[in-house]
Amino acid sequence: TMLLEFKQVSKQYGTDTKALTDVNFAVKEGEFVSIIGPSGAGKSTLLRCMNRMIDASSGKILFNGSDILACTKQELKRLRTQMGMVFQHYNLVNRLSVIENVLHGRLGYKSTLEGVLGLYSKEERHQAYTILKTLGLEEQVYKRCDQLSGGQKQRVGIARALVQNPKILLCDEPIASLDPNASKVIMDHLRNISTTMGITVIVNLHQVDTALKYSDRVLGVNKGTIVYDGNPSGINREQ
Ligand code: ADP
Ligand code: ADP
Repeated sequence: TMLLEFKQVSKQYGTDTKALTDVNFAVKEGEFVSIIGPSGAGKSTLLRCMNRMIDASSGKILFNGSDILACTKQELKRLRTQMGMVFQHYNLVNRLSVIENVLHGRLGYKSTLEGVLGLYSKEERHQAYTILKTLGLEEQVYKRCDQLSGGQKQRVGIARALVQNPKILLCDEPIASLDPNASKVIMDHLRNISTTMGITVIVNLHQVDTALKYSDRVLGVNKGTIVYDGNPSGINREQ
């Protein structure tokens, strides 16, 4: 069954920037999909329309059967917990600890609270700890986020998304600020999350080789339209 569907989706910024034009595709549950294309192609807009961080101008977006553009605010909030988001710049609260950042994500979109830890039950804290351990952050659990390397910060970002038990992970250039070693660690974790946890992963990448290596499927975007949708082996590296 299809987890996410875009039907004739367009996005216009202001009066003259058409970022997306009549985009159609559907993603099956469990797929690992990379979105590739040149800078300014519309990759980030496309990804951010999926959970309505950006409002599409027209078309239909279905997530797990729900109409993302037509649903109520409350319904959108519920759906967003099922759509974990991972950012290029991590979007962590630096003065809080790793585990506080992970639990903080459960409070939902844009909330800010200090002393987060005490708000959570032992079970919830244990779940956060277990996820951090899976991501190799056992030793960092109580460190402040500003003491971590970029690769560690991104793993915290992934843990924050996973603790909500998402059906899908939306990753917006997750390795663009990382060195090759840290990038490999992050991509291996994302692949593992897809394969062993069955979570659908959609990732924006500007590194074509990485996309081809890790993905089940590639969406090629150029000038706001999908110019390729298929197997990684069908991509011509010279393009
Ligand atoms: P990519 O992620 O592939 O680099 P983007 O989705 O960021 O592409 O941008 C697609 C197009 O939309 C570009 O022309 C970009 O300049 C424009 N754009 C992106 N965000 C905004 C915005 N907030 N306001 C106006 N134009 C924007
Ligand atoms: P980046 O620098 O990675 O492009 P930004 O820091 O500009 O991303 O954040 C983009 C938007 O995402 C901001 O409007 C921010 O409020 C929002 N945002 C931050 N954290 C989250 C989160 N955990 N879930 C959803 N949206 C978030």
